[in-house]
Amino acid sequence: MIPVNAPIITQESKMLINRALDEGWISSAGPYINDFEKEFASYLGVKHAITVNTGTAALHIALLAAGIGEGDEVIVPAFTMAASWMAVMYTGATPVFVDVEPDIYTIDPKLIEAAITSKTKAIMPVHIYGHPADMDPIVEIAKKHKLLVIEDAAEAHGATYKGKLTGSLGDINAFSFYANKIITTGEGGMVTTNSDELAEVAIRMKDLAHSKGKRFIHDALGYNYRMTSMQAALGSGQLLHISDFLSTKKHMAELYKKGLEDIPGITLPVTRDWATHVYWMYAVLVDEQKCGISKDELRAKLLEKGIDTRDFFYAPNTQPALTDKGLGRESFPVTEHIAQNGFYLPSGLAITDEQIETVCATMRSICQGI
Ligand SMILES: *Cc1c(COP(=O)(O)O)cnc(C)c1O
Repeated sequence: MIPVNAPIITQESKMLINRALDEGWISSAGPYINDFEKEFASYLGVKHAITVNTGTAALHIALLAAGIGEGDEVIVPAFTMAASWMAVMYTGATPVFVDVEPDIYTIDPKLIEAAITSKTKAIMPVHIYGHPADMDPIVEIAKKHKLLVIEDAAEAHGATYKGKLTGSLGDINAFSFYANKIITTGEGGMVTTNSDELAEVAIRMKDLAHSKGKRFIHDALGYNYRMTSMQAALGSGQLLHISDFLSTKKHMAELYKKGLEDIPGITLPVTRDWATHVYWMYAVLVDEQKCGISKDELRAKLLEKGIDTRDFFYAPNTQPALTDKGLGRESFPVTEHIAQNGFYLPSGLAITDEQIETVCATMRSICQGI
């Protein structure tokens, strides 16, 4: 079986985890958390990086720090992972969905202003599959309407927009370090910001909101979203190799492109000239007419041949968690089209050239009926 994602755990990570254990640093106290936060902030070039226990928690804390709650609206792309809109709903706010661009699958800036109301407080662009959203027009709209920008950079560590790293462009932003992300801590997340005020709220809210004056007096409803030292040690050991990981992803994408580009009816990922794509996942669309096979049939045949793949995220109007509350019921033509016809190929960091060549050859033989 060629797995859809096989991670790489570096030697440095193993060494650092063992050292944390030997020294007795197993909770979120101690130097490992501080080190990982400093290293990540310095990698991104931001003032504050705040560890949390998942990417979903990072989004929730970013939204809370931004002061979002009951009665507010947050604009999110219709094509994204559920954590983006669920985090909005945790705060009591309402996610308002906007369709995405047909080539890069990120929020379409041309459609944002029509979704803004007097209740809108923030826009959450998601850098989907590792391709940045078109940030300049988004930031411009946010400025004009006095909204905050909260990047969901869970899939885009190391991606750049006009030379700047994603996760450093919004007011407060979120990363995930889940097992299949560009760098991993197993489970984990990070909130990033250049604002001292937002960072202060984020640090308090992820740790039960102890009051500033007196510990164990709580002046707000906080959460326990703390990361462990073992996870931070794993993260530090991963971060040392992020440029190797990004090269591996680039090489993977080049091999896939070479192996798949002349198969009729398969649309490969594109990169805008202002972006570097980190190919969190190598995502393709199937044109059933031209391919003579639907996406579902193609995925089933790949699985028969030992190749694991995943569907794209589904449209909001198919999610009972939303539609039961009267949300996300509108039609989003681009999202619906790509959700219907898109899937991603094995894309883990441990994938070999041979495995990629096998995937390409198998795709070719299925699509061309040979
Ligand atoms: C993975 C992911 C998240 C959530 O991260 P977890 O660490 O799994 O909670 C949020 N948004 C996007 C776009 C993701 O891909």
